[in-house]
Amino acid sequence: MQHVGKIIRIKNRFPGPPTLVVNTVGEGLRKHLNLCFSCSCFHPDQLDVHCPIAQQTFEFSKTNSVSFALVRCAAFTPKPGVEVSDNSESQG
Ligand code: SF4
Repeated sequence: MQHVGKIIRIKNRFPGPPTLVVNTVGEGLRKHLNLCFSCSCFHPDQLDVHCPIAQQTFEFSKTNSVSFALVRCAAFTPKPGVEVSDNSESQG
């Protein structure tokens, strides 16, 4: 299988192995692809109002040293100013 980008080792910020293997393309796009960052439920600095799904996903990632490039859920609610196009009939 051909990979897009390079596979490299990076320092692990959380408990677990000291280094993680990542794909440079996925690592660079992770914040842009993760819709939680554009969701009005996402408040990681205010845990009393933060999305429990996002927090559980973060805890799973931290505990298991797993990184998700794309996160979304059915409750996604765009932050003010985030535009969402209606293209639902052409998507699988
Ligand atoms: S509601 Fe869904 S998209 Fe929004 S922060 Fe929570 S998990 Fe992410």
